[in-house]
Amino acid sequence: MDYIADLHIHSKYAGACSDQLILENLDRVAKIKGIQIIGTGDFTHPLWSKDLKGRLEETEGSGLYRLKGSNTGTRFMLTSEVSLFFGNGDAGSRVKKIHNLIFAPSLEVVDQINDRLGKYGNLASDGRPILQLSNSDLVEMLYKADPRIMVMPSHVWTPWFGVLGAMSGFNSLEEAYGDQVKHIYALEMGLSSDPLMNWRISKLDKFTLLAGSDAHSLPKIGREAIVFGFDDEKVSYGSITDAIKEKRIKMTLKFYPEEGKYHFDGHRACNVSLSPEDAKKYGNICPRCRKQLTIGVLHRVESLADRKEGERSATAKPFVHIIQLQDIIAYVTKKGVGTSSVSRLYDAFIKEFGTEFNVLLNADITKISEIEPEVGRAIENVRNGRVRITPGYDGVFGVIDILDQMPEQSKRGNQKRISEF
Ligand SMILES: [Zn+2]
Ligand SMILES: [Zn+2]
Repeated sequence: MDYIADLHIHSKYAGACSDQLILENLDRVAKIKGIQIIGTGDFTHPLWSKDLKGRLEETEGSGLYRLKGSNTGTRFMLTSEVSLFFGNGDAGSRVKKIHNLIFAPSLEVVDQINDRLGKYGNLASDGRPILQLSNSDLVEMLYKADPRIMVMPSHVWTPWFGVLGAMSGFNSLEEAYGDQVKHIYALEMGLSSDPLMNWRISKLDKFTLLAGSDAHSLPKIGREAIVFGFDDEKVSYGSITDAIKEKRIKMTLKFYPEEGKYHFDGHRACNVSLSPEDAKKYGNICPRCRKQLTIGVLHRVESLADRKEGERSATAKPFVHIIQLQDIIAYVTKKGVGTSSVSRLYDAFIKEFGTEFNVLLNADITKISEIEPEVGRAIENVRNGRVRITPGYDGVFGVIDILDQMPEQSKRGNQKRISEF
């Protein structure tokens, strides 16, 4: 059986996050989206972890939890993200700032983690706390506390806070984690990169490439996810982390990387967006303000790549690019996401097909078109990679065009991007 998991989300206690990110909403929205396993996010936060302890119950000793009194079937996995800073600028090295994801096997272990991490920062300050701790110290400490705990770098390519980002100061996970890299099994690709890009770097082959929404509000849940295929009906924390360790994930559901906020190079304030090729022509200097450009993910991947575009790693797993149903409906109807007309149509699709992922991935296009023909056509285009995207840059999201463009008009965005396995 397939299980769809979104293991990177945040609660209402994390910075710039919606106050709607509470347990009953996560439980409900996961069901509508078609997500069977959702991360709790933010278990390091004292108020959120109190909520988790009071309102979740473990399902049959599995290390996964359900909301008490709920019949949605949604399973919660205990997850959190921390923002590390370390290095004192000695010997010309600058301070490093790196985000890491943590998975925990039980609420008891969450307490042990929080006791330890609380010594390195104020856990109550934010759902994603800032800790004065190095990558390797974090991994070593948590591995010693309980070897079932899993740590991995989040959104590895983002210019700031991503372990391989242009500003991180690291060129490999070995450099970033030292000998503790032996306990790193996976990395999160982030919204601005996809497997095709990560496969270009052979030293990443040994890591499982994961996807997560990093949702800061309810509608963003499931904009990326992992699909696990388990023979056994009894999914557990152990079966999920073993599948990650042993590269047995079935596939990832990915944002189009061009749509991500840091795909191209540029300057948001100067309204300048450049491909890596063009940025290099300008010496990576902004042609408007003459300051250093924010180097995006595509450029950074190319600078570390030792394989050509289109080459695939031997450990590659299938992936599919997706665009969220609300975004597709908003695009087709030319109404904003969150307007009542978009919500009405969205609800009609969920009523007919059960879940959003069923609409996006499986439902018959003819049947989708019976509800709204243009949505049917748009979903068919997305499934076949016939999408044109104006790439995002320096914090600006990319802009999608799903209906009007012919395939040959775009360089990358509308090639057939569903990997064929
Ligand atoms: Zn992060
Ligand atoms: Zn500029």
